[in-house]
Amino acid sequence: MRGALGGPRLLLRRLREVMAEPVSAQARLDKIVVLIANNMVAEVCSFYVLRADGTLELYATEGLNRDAVHLTTMRAGEGLVGLIAQQAQPLNLPNAQSHPSFSYKPETGEEIYQSFLGVPVLRGGNTLGVLVVQNRAHRLYSEEEVEALQTTAMVLAEMLASGELQTLARPGADIALRRPVTLSGQPLADGVGLGYVVLHEPRVVVSNLIADDPVREGGRLDAAIAELRSSIDDMIERGDVAHGGEHREVLETYRMFAHDQGWLRRLREAITSGLTAEAAVERVQSDTRARMMRQTDPYLRERLHDLDDLANRLLHRLVGRDMVGSQSVLPDNAIIVARAMGPAALLDYDRSRLRGLVLEEGGPTSHVAIVARALGIPAVGNVENVTGLAESGDAIIVDGGTAHVHLRPQPDVEAAFREKARLRARRQEQYRKLRDRPARTRDGVPVSLNLNAGLLVDLPHLDETGAHGIGLFRTELQFMIAERMPSAGEQLELYRSVLAAVGDRPVTFRTLDIGGDKVLPYMRQVEEENPALGWRAIRIGLDRPGLLRAQVRALLKAAGGRDIRIMFPMVATVDEFVRAKAIVARERGHLARHGYEPPSALKLGVMVEVPSLLFQLDELCAEADFLSVGSNDLMQFLFAVDRENPQVANRFDALNPVCLRALRSIVAAADRAGIPVTLCGELGGRPIDAMALLAIGFRSLSMSPASIGPVKAMLLSLDLAALADYVLPLVSAHDGLPSIRPKLAAFADEHGIPV
Ligand code: PEP
Ligand code: MG
Repeated sequence: MRGALGGPRLLLRRLREVMAEPVSAQARLDKIVVLIANNMVAEVCSFYVLRADGTLELYATEGLNRDAVHLTTMRAGEGLVGLIAQQAQPLNLPNAQSHPSFSYKPETGEEIYQSFLGVPVLRGGNTLGVLVVQNRAHRLYSEEEVEALQTTAMVLAEMLASGELQTLARPGADIALRRPVTLSGQPLADGVGLGYVVLHEPRVVVSNLIADDPVREGGRLDAAIAELRSSIDDMIERGDVAHGGEHREVLETYRMFAHDQGWLRRLREAITSGLTAEAAVERVQSDTRARMMRQTDPYLRERLHDLDDLANRLLHRLVGRDMVGSQSVLPDNAIIVARAMGPAALLDYDRSRLRGLVLEEGGPTSHVAIVARALGIPAVGNVENVTGLAESGDAIIVDGGTAHVHLRPQPDVEAAFREKARLRARRQEQYRKLRDRPARTRDGVPVSLNLNAGLLVDLPHLDETGAHGIGLFRTELQFMIAERMPSAGEQLELYRSVLAAVGDRPVTFRTLDIGGDKVLPYMRQVEEENPALGWRAIRIGLDRPGLLRAQVRALLKAAGGRDIRIMFPMVATVDEFVRAKAIVARERGHLARHGYEPPSALKLGVMVEVPSLLFQLDELCAEADFLSVGSNDLMQFLFAVDRENPQVANRFDALNPVCLRALRSIVAAADRAGIPVTLCGELGGRPIDAMALLAIGFRSLSMSPASIGPVKAMLLSLDLAALADYVLPLVSAHDGLPSIRPKLAAFADEHGIPV
């Protein structure tokens, strides 16, 4: 019985005619199953649709009892149909009833059929249903027949995706395609965003599935593959590092796949069965995606991702050249959904319309996450398969606090989040009202609240928050989001723009803090066992002074005629700071010799973030013009907990008296020497932690823009003298308390301090 009647091409042509007929959705489905059964000389053809509740419902049949349509259902994994849906793979069985998963549904009358061929109905790698043919006689369906049925399943997938079949779903038995899903990932940037999905790389919509002329389609495919191969060769030759941070290795993998005979054979087979070249690519890509989702080996998964990317590129060549980067027509309330994304690509979107970002890849330290935080866009990363599940225009909610993403939310979920967003907005509004109030405690102690910044997009926050100045400008961010090393001119330009934006408010630039988790894609990486303890920050600056010199020169040039403060990260000994100062002095001399105007005042400081400095504070203060505590790193090294490892990062509380004593010793040393001290780690941005810092003597803090309001609200209602009386004995007590947080919370509660 090899070779179906008229072959798959005739079947596809007939299907196309049926698709165009002005009949009801059910009538169309009924005709389709008859057509398939006839064409494949099968006694049965049935179509099952995956419902939102995870069960599969019989939607149409030729050969089984028609009364069972919309009545027979299978649970996920139940029976052969459930197994196909679960595994997203065809099953071809000459003797179906002896298969361990066979489950008999008496209402269908299928007991007389022996052979069984079922294929998943896939779209974007997601199973939407199952298509089955059956025969009485024992037979193994040929490979061509399996291929033909899979091709036919694509037509049904499109029909489902178009929404045409929704009308057939009974209440409470919604079709899975549009079902609400809640996904979780890792928090990247706080906030709640409601809006609509914008796929960063929109899928090419293949509307033309069926081709009349396979020779022509084969030619189109060959031409597109040839173009694809030569474009990859070009990229490799040019050493491109494109937006997504494509490295040579990825490009080499693309090249390998673009020549892979198995892949090409499958594409050609799909064309032979009657598909257009683009539909053939989509069909093979869908199989790849289905495999990818079930692959647990991270390496193989990554390779399947590469193959998926390659198929996308091929699709764009065949149909959608102009579809990449549809940023120009961004809708209002856009939530960008992407597999991965570079920081520059995010900055290309119109900020005023962005409400959120969801990524399949990318952890909290990824560069795009840094930019999302700077832009104040709620973002969640590591959300598995979100690009496969989301369709452009779907309603979506991003909660950057809990790291949940609600796709196509139910009305009650949406209402709850609208309320949450409204509350946040109201709170923000209250904080904005505090903008012009002097930052002074209730008992009159002035506190300097400053911003942490690093990009131009951060600068408007100065006016918005009413911050005193910029307490930490992380200069490495410019380097991290660039595709190549920023030139001296580009650095100068950024520093000038920053100084212009801050006006006469103070700004403290920190020299490049790279290495550790802060990697520059274009810089050769040194393999290190412990990068956090490795060759980073000032260590690179002193060992390879070219980079540091160029940066210092750019900073000094930008600051001609005005005040500037420069500080150095990861200093571990006074000697390192002395050597860094010598570099600055040398650059200063160089610029003076070349007639540049010097800064009106130049202050050089040290980030206190390596515990060894705690034991040389007086010597350090004798050399430094100011200190700034980097509590993120100081905590990491003090307690030996990796700040990026969620399993241990929160194991110790910074409000542990041991830690507070260390911090108090820094303030005390700075006070003794009469130099200013500030704290610029995350600690300073949390109201309750900031209370403790004020109590032990800090009068200057630097924090992310969103923290200024809450910290100011706290200090405006704080009686600092009373707090210090309460806290200092707790800090000095040697009672082994792991944290004074509960006591501080109680104090705040008792005194009506908002924390
Ligand atoms: C710190 O370590 O506390 C700090 C402010 O610097 P970064 O977070 O950039 O390491
Ligand atoms: Mg640090």
